[in-house]
Amino acid sequence: MRQNEVITPNTTSQIFNIIRKHGEINRMGLTELSGVSKSTISLQINKLIRLGLVEEIAPSDTSQRKLKLKICEKVGYIAGLFLGITKLSMAIFTLDMEIVCEKEYHFDSIQEPVSCNKQIIKYLKEVCTKLGIPKLWGIGIGFPFPVNFKEGKPDSPPNVPLWDGYPLKTIYEKEFGCPVLIDNDVNVMALGEGVKGCTQGESDFLFIKLGTGIGSGLIVDGQIYRGANGCAGDVGHIGVNGETIQCICGNKGCLEAVAGGLALARKAEQLAASGASPYLKQLLDQHVKLEASHINDGAMHGDFTCIQLIRETGKAIGEVTAKLVNFFNPSSIIFGGGVAGFGNLLIGSIRETIIRRSPHLATFELNVAVSELKSKAGPIGSGALILEHIFSDEEFQTTVIQNLDA
Ligand SMILES: [Zn+2]
Repeated sequence: MRQNEVITPNTTSQIFNIIRKHGEINRMGLTELSGVSKSTISLQINKLIRLGLVEEIAPSDTSQRKLKLKICEKVGYIAGLFLGITKLSMAIFTLDMEIVCEKEYHFDSIQEPVSCNKQIIKYLKEVCTKLGIPKLWGIGIGFPFPVNFKEGKPDSPPNVPLWDGYPLKTIYEKEFGCPVLIDNDVNVMALGEGVKGCTQGESDFLFIKLGTGIGSGLIVDGQIYRGANGCAGDVGHIGVNGETIQCICGNKGCLEAVAGGLALARKAEQLAASGASPYLKQLLDQHVKLEASHINDGAMHGDFTCIQLIRETGKAIGEVTAKLVNFFNPSSIIFGGGVAGFGNLLIGSIRETIIRRSPHLATFELNVAVSELKSKAGPIGSGALILEHIFSDEEFQTTVIQNLDA
């Protein structure tokens, strides 16, 4: 039956995706949302039910009598992988993005791609076997450095040069026999935040990762905006007014050189060595290797120099972010990464600077917040990346044939 089913380009996938994104919905609601005639809806619904992708259920609200439609979320599973320098986060999702399994694995380092990916493939196969999943419908992978999205390969990744051009997409597609997409970490984190974080339902927002380095993911009209060459959002190398600190990119005064995790660790060492911060000096005297997080600890202990440094860092981040607000007019700016964990003192200073430097029309409803998902944003975003792809109008028919006719 399934082999003979004719999928009308766009309409079948359109109806399926409305049900998938909306959740339980009756036929009348579906007609209103899709703008498609009742008879077409009926035809498409029957088709999706015969395919085993949609089912009709009694409404959970007993005062309503009409049957509701929902997707058969457990008919297939996808995986979201998120790779860091020393850690892999992995999650398996149903087709409605419910997590059925989450795992974390630690590496000494991901310097060498061949053995590292052999290990990751082994982990993923073990998890699928344990869950009784014979075949994944798709895999999304977040990678911590620049990625050639079309080709699915890392592109000149600093720190891990052996990964340059390594054919990640091809290797995983061959191993798992399903579509695979690779994108850089901030893009998938932005997507994750939009799917299950604090920007659900928003179509134009910005996710800024304040980690060892600084980068951002732009969501425009509900989609990741990659730009002409795939490197949109590289905000870490925008200059901060009046700053002259040397950046690894060769320029001076970049935001990353002022407010990135490495830059802050260096500042912490200087403030400890000079004695300007009693809290940091005390740690240095105990031979503690100072990191950016110690500045936050110092501020929590009332160390004035640490408080002042967080305020100044927030001001620098706010200055660059204000330029982005003026240019892009997002509804939200969400901060993630270790430095974003500094909390209200940092975010307050960022927000204050943005409001001072941007027009009222762009800021009066602007939401400036810290990621709710934290480390979960990565694997959730990687999962969302591949899920949107396999159910896109272009891929829908292939997805159905490859997975439901098997
Ligand atoms: Zn730079």
